[in-house]
Amino acid sequence: MATVDTAIEELSAEQRQRRGEELRQEGIVIRTYDLWKTYIMGDQEIHAVSGVNIEIRRGEYVAIMGPSGSGKSTLMNLIGCLDTPTKGLYYLNGKLASDMEDDELARIRNKEIGFVFQTFNLLARATALHNVELPLIYAGVPSGERIARAREALRAVDLEQRMLHKPNELSGGQRQRVAIARALVNKPSILLADEPTGALDSATGNEIMALFEHLYREGNTIVLVTHELDIAMHAHRVIHIRDGKVERDEPVSIEGAP
Ligand code: ADP
Ligand code: MG
Repeated sequence: MATVDTAIEELSAEQRQRRGEELRQEGIVIRTYDLWKTYIMGDQEIHAVSGVNIEIRRGEYVAIMGPSGSGKSTLMNLIGCLDTPTKGLYYLNGKLASDMEDDELARIRNKEIGFVFQTFNLLARATALHNVELPLIYAGVPSGERIARAREALRAVDLEQRMLHKPNELSGGQRQRVAIARALVNKPSILLADEPTGALDSATGNEIMALFEHLYREGNTIVLVTHELDIAMHAHRVIHIRDGKVERDEPVSIEGAP
């Protein structure tokens, strides 16, 4: 695979497209080839992400873990199509996201990625139901179908009974479950969670991690970004990053197993 990786920059546009189709057929949702993000600060270059090769398959539950400043947020922004790389290729569900302009990137983001943030990012004055409907409004789904799908997503996180509550009428854990329902309502290719338990007490955090495990078992692909090892260990594979590079990539062993 290494020879292919180094050569990929030299592929023609048509060959690149074909590579995307192959990746999709193989069930690879995320594939980066020699991905870089470099910031220029005065006369200094900061390589926040430097030469990352990652492959994530449909149905995997992966944590991206590293200390503060290791490049997690930068990498998450690239994977989530919130930013474009300085160099390298990024395929999301077979499409070459690293080549896309902003409007196309926004479209693929809304379709393929469900975001979950540390601080929930809900609309304060909207009900749980309306918060979950929002991505469907952006996607142009008609009202009746929107409500049905938003209710179904809230049911999946066991919050249908609270659907007319506003965020301030819900606990922290319930708010995060609303955010997870919102992330899932579009049936995205991946659920991308950035420190999803960071603003919760540990018992509530464990409930959210149990929900992720349940969603994984139902077939969702989950990418969890965290600096905490005990949170990362809930995933089934951990990609350790340091100084913008993949340091280790390993499966999480079942307790007691070698
Ligand atoms: P993490 O999320 O792991 O804490 P970040 O991705 O936020 O790490 O940052 C990685 C490195 O890139 C850090 O050295 C940080 O200072 C730098 N960095 C991040 N964003 C910017 C930016 N917009 N401009 C300049 N440097 C940045
Ligand atoms: Mg960060």
